[in-house]
Amino acid sequence: MSTKYIFVTGGVTSSLGKGIISASLAKLLQSRGYSVTIQKLDPYINVDPGTLNPYEHGECYVTEDGAETDLDLGHYERFLNVPTSQANNVTTGRIYQSVIDKERRGDYLGKTVQIIPHITDEIKHRIKLLGNKFKYDFVITEIGGTVGDIESLPYIEAVRQLKWDMPNNSLVIHLTLVPYLAASGELKTKPTQHSVKLLLENGVQPDILVLRTEHELTKEIRSKVARFCNVDIKSVIQSIDASTIYEVPILMSEENLDTEVLTKLGMTVNEKPQLQQWKSFLLKRLKAKKVVNVALVGKYIELHDAYKSIVESFEHAGASNEVKVKINWIDAEKITKNTSEDLFKNVQGILIAPGFGLRGVEGKIQAAKHARENKVPFFGICLGMQCAVIEFARNVLNLKDSHSTEMKPLTLNPVIDLMEEQKSITNMGGTMRLGSYPCELQESSNAYNAYGSDIINERHRHRYEYNNIYLDKFEKAGMFATGRNTETNLVEIMEIKDHPWFVGVQFHPEYKSTVLNPHPLFVDFIKAAAKNNK
Ligand code: GLN
Repeated sequence: MSTKYIFVTGGVTSSLGKGIISASLAKLLQSRGYSVTIQKLDPYINVDPGTLNPYEHGECYVTEDGAETDLDLGHYERFLNVPTSQANNVTTGRIYQSVIDKERRGDYLGKTVQIIPHITDEIKHRIKLLGNKFKYDFVITEIGGTVGDIESLPYIEAVRQLKWDMPNNSLVIHLTLVPYLAASGELKTKPTQHSVKLLLENGVQPDILVLRTEHELTKEIRSKVARFCNVDIKSVIQSIDASTIYEVPILMSEENLDTEVLTKLGMTVNEKPQLQQWKSFLLKRLKAKKVVNVALVGKYIELHDAYKSIVESFEHAGASNEVKVKINWIDAEKITKNTSEDLFKNVQGILIAPGFGLRGVEGKIQAAKHARENKVPFFGICLGMQCAVIEFARNVLNLKDSHSTEMKPLTLNPVIDLMEEQKSITNMGGTMRLGSYPCELQESSNAYNAYGSDIINERHRHRYEYNNIYLDKFEKAGMFATGRNTETNLVEIMEIKDHPWFVGVQFHPEYKSTVLNPHPLFVDFIKAAAKNNK
């Protein structure tokens, strides 16, 4: 079949959950046997979100091929259980960069280079690449931002052109908000009408409307929206607030979103997908009563989106262990020798999150000390692992000034140091050790037991590494390198043996946890935490 292109736009406000609706629709189509991919187009000038502060944009999600991408790609992978790549996330910066590169090469043969057609052509090319090159049955393209934003205009124009070019193979789903006015007890459709008008001004008639709401939509509301916005009443889909994002595919199936899409594209509609494995995950999640308290130590704790993949990995690992994981958000800057006892008194496991820069590092080091000394299950990710290493060097090996050269360039004991090939790099964007690398595990380590295999592949995003010069000393004192990259000899995992569960990983396991494949290290960490009844 020829690839079908589905565009998802948003109106009224941001944060309506376009990513989750896209992922849910993709899940339903995938369950019907189609190959589906999702792409996010982001209308900002950064070439990728790798240089963005988490306060601006939440977590930066890393793909197998080492692309630093929007956190929605994490949802796509967690829902679909198939990896995404650089092609799945395109920003305005990337579009302009390639158009300007072409202009400099002289590819435009003396023509004036303009938003239409050159920028829009580049956007169209990036959208169609997934269909032409990778031959997906469905490409779902989510347009970031809100209709009416100046920045989104070239994208909406590209959608208009593509709909014109492929009338039978494309459709537009527009997501809006139906606010509830408590004072009058009414649901209001006017913002939806206005936002559809805005789309129409740009030449795009949406085929399906998904209305985000806190209350059930009545038949009257649906038919009013249908009438004002030129869509079939069956194409007015309710997206009601759910208790978990993982319920949304079920809700969308009940609302027949996938059936509407298939009908509109002139395709055969077979029986509804059963989603058995998905439902059994939801059931386990629901039935879990026992609470496991874990600490998540980070420096953006008021902003949970900064640790999105970790939070979701806990969801998957909780269901898999049939427990409810309760995250205690602990601000790294508040942790000191005097406060740690109190801050961690109610937790059964401690996870130290990834991060960059000096702020909060001493608190993270103290958290690792607390976990080591009190035998609390410990999971350090990237900077979290580096902090555990620094702590061990300072307090067990007695190398008091140990540090990472990221925080203290002139330390006498650089137990974490810059990789040789990183030393000459000055550009910040896209220059870290990024993407998937193999790692060999040592038998009978916690990691080996968790994965149940000796070769694993995990994704990286960092500049600094464990400094092998110190390895002998560490291992003699009880902290072991249990995972290594055999080609480069880089240490990927450090574990303390005389401890219930103390694992630090240089990579980011959280990027690979999905509903159907909960990450083994998260599952094992939660299991160890559940056993810690102190
Ligand atoms: N800042 C550290 C490094 O670059 C850790 C990065 C991370 O936690 N992702 O090596």
